[in-house]
Amino acid sequence: MRKQIAAANWKMNLTVDKAQSLLDEIISAQIKFNEDRQAIFAVPFPYLQMAQQKINNVDNFFIAAQNCYSKKSGAYTGETSAEMLQSLNIKYVVLGHSERREYFEESNQFLAEKLNITLENNITPIFCCGEPLSIRDAQTQNAFVEKQLQESLFHFSADDVQKIVIAYEPIWAIGTGKTATSEQAQEMHAHLRKVIADNFGKAVGDKISILYGGSVKASNAKEIFSKPDVDGGLVGGASLIASEFVTIINSLK
Ligand code: PEP
Repeated sequence: MRKQIAAANWKMNLTVDKAQSLLDEIISAQIKFNEDRQAIFAVPFPYLQMAQQKINNVDNFFIAAQNCYSKKSGAYTGETSAEMLQSLNIKYVVLGHSERREYFEESNQFLAEKLNITLENNITPIFCCGEPLSIRDAQTQNAFVEKQLQESLFHFSADDVQKIVIAYEPIWAIGTGKTATSEQAQEMHAHLRKVIADNFGKAVGDKISILYGGSVKASNAKEIFSKPDVDGGLVGGASLIASEFVTIINSLK
């Protein structure tokens, strides 16, 4: 089975004491994992080490960074490199979140550079893609998202591309309380898997995990995750509430 993942995106939320309590509460739920399931916590940079220490002995829990820079090292004040993340033993990084694309003008080409350096440092990118409402209304979402993949991922070899986790996050569903229906999610996920299969071979398409993001919560996770091409979720708001996120993890296939 493909890896099934519940990934928490804390964004720019929580002070350190609240972040610690949230992790403690989730860890204390002692979730039983089968080997194909993972829970990932994309925490703010200052909390990476604290979080990494906390989950150190918890099976199937991983810490992610929410971003990293495209350059190896040097005079880039305020930025964090993939090499730094690797030195902290961080295994995942979220790249291309729609908030970064919108507020920090991250282009598909710039994200391709970040993906390159991330893979060079053996960190798994969780690559976000997804269309705004205007594109969904015009029913051109498949072509829009396909272009995001094409411009950021298609230069990779099949070997490298299969290391990437894709998160489909329709922008109109992020933080809005408006979830895509499970059918809409399935339709896009199947399309993306086909796009990957057409370009890199069926085995790669079958192997790559595609997460859904956009107002996933305890009450809708099971239904969304039950779809055959949905391999879990990237979760913002609901990941800040321990009981919600525990239920979301337990809703993985
Ligand atoms: C996200 O930030 O990636 C996200 C999906 O947020 P929310 O779950 O709050 O919609």
